[in-house]
Amino acid sequence: MALVRTNWAGNVTFKASGVARPTTIDELREVVAGADRVRAVGTGHSFNLIVDTTGRLVSLADLPQAIDIDPVNQTVTVPAGMRYGELVTRLDAAGFALHNLASLPHITVAGAVATATHGSGVNNGNLATPVCALEMVTGSGALVSLDGEALAGAAVSLGALGIVTKLTFRLAKTFEIMQYVYDDVPREDVNEILSSGYSVSLFTDWRTPRRVNQVWRKCLPGEQNAWTGGTPADGPRHPIPDMDPVTTTQQLGVPGPWHERLTHFRLDHTPSAGDELQSEYFVPLASAEDALSALDPIAERIAAVLQISEIRTVKADNLWLSPAFERDCLAIHFTWVKDPAAVGEVIDLLEERLAPFDPRPHWGKLFHRRPALHEGFVALMDRYDPDGKLRNDFMAAIVQSGETPAPSGMAR
Ligand SMILES: Cc1cc2nc3c(=O)[nH]c(=O)nc-3n(C[C@H](O)[C@H](O)[C@H](O)COP(=O)(O)OP(=O)(O)OC[C@H]3O[C@@H](n4cnc5c(N)ncnc54)[C@H](O)[C@@H]3O)c2cc1C
Repeated sequence: MALVRTNWAGNVTFKASGVARPTTIDELREVVAGADRVRAVGTGHSFNLIVDTTGRLVSLADLPQAIDIDPVNQTVTVPAGMRYGELVTRLDAAGFALHNLASLPHITVAGAVATATHGSGVNNGNLATPVCALEMVTGSGALVSLDGEALAGAAVSLGALGIVTKLTFRLAKTFEIMQYVYDDVPREDVNEILSSGYSVSLFTDWRTPRRVNQVWRKCLPGEQNAWTGGTPADGPRHPIPDMDPVTTTQQLGVPGPWHERLTHFRLDHTPSAGDELQSEYFVPLASAEDALSALDPIAERIAAVLQISEIRTVKADNLWLSPAFERDCLAIHFTWVKDPAAVGEVIDLLEERLAPFDPRPHWGKLFHRRPALHEGFVALMDRYDPDGKLRNDFMAAIVQSGETPAPSGMAR
């Protein structure tokens, strides 16, 4: 049993006694049935205590990695511990695609779905929205399959309902994307910019009032001329000023397959800065301009502890724990410097400024205020994990009733 001591960013040291790496589903069931406390770990790219347990972590990386494409129903069934980077090339080779991807391909499908990880696009739901079935080992060690309406409560699970072993995704036909970057764009009519391509991101360091450093437009053929408001970049860009763009996917409008354009970062390189913390808040898309303006008065405080901020959109869905549950969202993301104390002060400020917009935090990033939990979810936890094996400090703080702030979004 190997030890996993920290998350990817190294800001969280796990209390877990070690990590089991079962090679069969039966072995996984035995591990779960025999554990007092247990949690699944994907690639550990979350920035808070969501993964941790006082018992054993379980990695599914050593389970068989075969995928099963159903070309008639246009679905794929994927082992939960597979990383997107390994899945996407196989899908593309078979003529299929996922509708969207996060900024990086390094994360596991189960870890991403469990936290409602997302890319951008006014018509694109998060990465849990195409899930049409899943299989999981519950707290008692039973193997159950879920589909249909059950997925509204169980797809975005925060790892609290069971260890997911397989996920089935609805597929699109493979498609091409062209990625264009623009420099130094006025932050005017944000909704128009954000809807000017299949997937659009604004990057800002909050240093220049009401301007963003870059706009990244990932366009379908035919969409490339939908917006002419920016100065096209004269070469490849990294979202963080002064960083080498060698880690980023092809830009400059060169057409290419969806999986080589929808992520910002390439699988064979360390994503982003690699030495960082992250937070993200989802506010109603209808309040996009007002929510961003609400942060202008604290722009200097943000900039002082920031590497870069990314502004994206996520389409509304029906998944209980999704930050885009029943509302189209603007997602305001912050890649911080790795200084938890200084960042913590700015998170408090941010949450205060965004409070009028009912912000929902990204489950896998740093936040302080406890988000509202869908009332049905605790009943699902009791049903699939009656002995509380999958509960950890993070879940305890989320489930806790009352108005006190959640202590555990961030390792303070
Ligand atoms: C550089 C960087 C860039 C990022 N970019 C984005 C982005 O573009 N968009 C975005 O939304 N997020 C982004 N994130 C956040 C990231 O996508 C999420 O934290 C995601 O959950 C990480 O996946 P993981 O495989 O590392 O899961 P982990 O962090 O290992 O686990 C996350 C959760 O999933 C659960 N889990 C994992 N495997 C299973 C399983 N088999 N069964 C049940 N539960 C399971 C864990 O218990 C935990 O609760 C980024 C993070 C980093 C470090």
